[in-house]
Amino acid sequence: MHSYTVIGASSASGFDERAVQIARRISVAGLAIVVIVFAATAVFGEVNWLSFAETLTYLIILGALTLSSFSRYRVKQTLSAALLGLFFAFWLFSLWQMSADMMSIEGFALALFIPMMVAMALGHRILFFLAPVQFILVTAAFQIYGPIFYSPELSTSSLFTLGGVHGALAAAVFFLLGLVQRERLKTDLRLIKAIEETERLASTDPLTGLLNRRAFMSALSGIAKNPGDFVITFIDLNNFKPLNDQYGHAAGDAVLCEVGKRLSRRPGIVFAARPGGDEFAILISAQALNQPIEAFMDSLHRAIAEDIAWGDGAISVGASIGYCDLLGAAENLSVCLSRADAAMRRAKIDGGGAARFDEGKDNMSMETELLVAAFPSALASGQIRAALQPIADARTNKIVAYELLARWDWAGLERQPGPGEFIPIAEKLGLLNSLLWQTLEEALTAAHLGEAKLAVNVSPGQLQSAAFLKTLCARLDACGAQPSQIILEVTEQVAFRNLDANVEVLTRAKELGMSVALDDFGTGYSSLSMLDALPLDKIKIDQSLVRLADKGSSASILKGAIELARQLGLTCCVEGVCTQEAANYVRSLGVDELQGFWIGRPAPAAAQRDAVKIAS
Ligand code: C2E
Ligand code: CA
Ligand code: CA
Repeated sequence: MHSYTVIGASSASGFDERAVQIARRISVAGLAIVVIVFAATAVFGEVNWLSFAETLTYLIILGALTLSSFSRYRVKQTLSAALLGLFFAFWLFSLWQMSADMMSIEGFALALFIPMMVAMALGHRILFFLAPVQFILVTAAFQIYGPIFYSPELSTSSLFTLGGVHGALAAAVFFLLGLVQRERLKTDLRLIKAIEETERLASTDPLTGLLNRRAFMSALSGIAKNPGDFVITFIDLNNFKPLNDQYGHAAGDAVLCEVGKRLSRRPGIVFAARPGGDEFAILISAQALNQPIEAFMDSLHRAIAEDIAWGDGAISVGASIGYCDLLGAAENLSVCLSRADAAMRRAKIDGGGAARFDEGKDNMSMETELLVAAFPSALASGQIRAALQPIADARTNKIVAYELLARWDWAGLERQPGPGEFIPIAEKLGLLNSLLWQTLEEALTAAHLGEAKLAVNVSPGQLQSAAFLKTLCARLDACGAQPSQIILEVTEQVAFRNLDANVEVLTRAKELGMSVALDDFGTGYSSLSMLDALPLDKIKIDQSLVRLADKGSSASILKGAIELARQLGLTCCVEGVCTQEAANYVRSLGVDELQGFWIGRPAPAAAQRDAVKIAS
């Protein structure tokens, strides 16, 4: 695996940041002190060529340090070099002033003290090196300035003893400073190690040692800022759950570890992660591969699928791999992740192997995901609206009912999702009842139904949901409507599962005064026994039979269906009547009701009320 600094980066950069801060403080404060001291000397003392040279030297050193710290260029090295430069320059000018008899008593005291201040910011190695240097320089200073500072009569040996004692003390201070710095560095390093270890633990999956989801995402967003030729890959193991159940969790863990190892060993992998369960994710650098990406994916798939030793035998797992190119810019990251995921799910549906994201094949499932994510808030915020489509008496063309159809008014989307897309989603999310109550209330309050009934589509799941009929009646009551105004449209699905329970609910609905219609007749099994078993009032013949009516056999099915309804004494409605000809044709076959664009298209509930007003 390529090394990638996901962890430790923050602590190392924290160390560098400290050097930058110290360098900035020293350089700015140093420049200020130098300027102030020079100005004070000019005002209160005497400025000579030596003080000029000294000030200029300090300004150059501190200026270089300022530049380095603000441009962040080699700050640590420049800081050490600048402090050493200041140390030696200060000593040089001090000794020069002493020997030229240009030093004041206060200046001599400062000359012993200031180098110590400068050295405090240096590292321990330089301090250990400077300790003997400081000893020599202090001793030398006493030889030169001792007669002036103490007494001109001091003997050479006394001067030497005096200088030596001061020098030794100064060297000892340097040495102690060095020890302190060394201990501090050790503590800092221990701290960094502890932070790195904590970061590592927080970012790795303890079982496989790969990155966990959080670290994978942060590493990905880091890399997405500087895009290259990268490929995001999601891997999902096939049949992992049954394997876990059959062989136990220890075997499952062993499989995950082994797959993790096999992934890490592949060339071209920038980092690998186990975001959770039996899912793995890798980022691949296409440039680092010595083969086309398709060949790489095939070999990756084979490598994962190879037998894994377990006990005396071997276990093998399959894998579904989905991959896509990493698009530049961090904001595209979620798109890339959904793409790789969609491709992976397609691979899974195809029985395993690897699949590259394909706009045509995978966008559909991504759109579905988008709808699933958006539907609950769309319903809550009133984006799901009621539309009504008229159903007319075939003989008089009088509107006898309206069918309640749901519409998703999604302003943000170019294409409005149709009920064929979002009704299954609402069902999956358990929101079909909420959708019905909302659209029902809208239809009953916004539309003017008059004598016409209201047909509502009800799924088998809804029929079986607790207190469905009771709630429906309460909702109707709240809107001032009667159960006798309602037609429940059910499909033959109600006969496939829980037939007895469904029949019971429908019978109860009829007792309450509602009617029951069998929807989409002619599209499924349409068995006669089912027609007999369900307590029906009406059958609605599916529009596909009308559209194909001019084609031989379909026409006979249509005729047969209408005849069947008549024989069973059920009202017969034909859906999808789009033209006058179609209307005349189905009328001639003896149909009772017509529904379709020729009678009227589904329209918003409020528009239906306005249309009724204009007509009357
Ligand atoms: P459905 O119950 O068979 O509803 C009739 C569908 O046929 C409606 O499609 C309607 O717009 C369409 N249609 C009506 N006349 C014509 C015509 O002359 N030509 C053509 N080409 N189409 C016609 P829609 O509104 O797209 O609904 C599709 C299906 O979604 C419905 O089929 C129904 O099963 C379901 N659905 C719609 N709204 C709801 C709802 O609120 N609740 C439930 N549970 N299902 C709903
Ligand atoms: Ca219907
Ligand atoms: Ca229908």
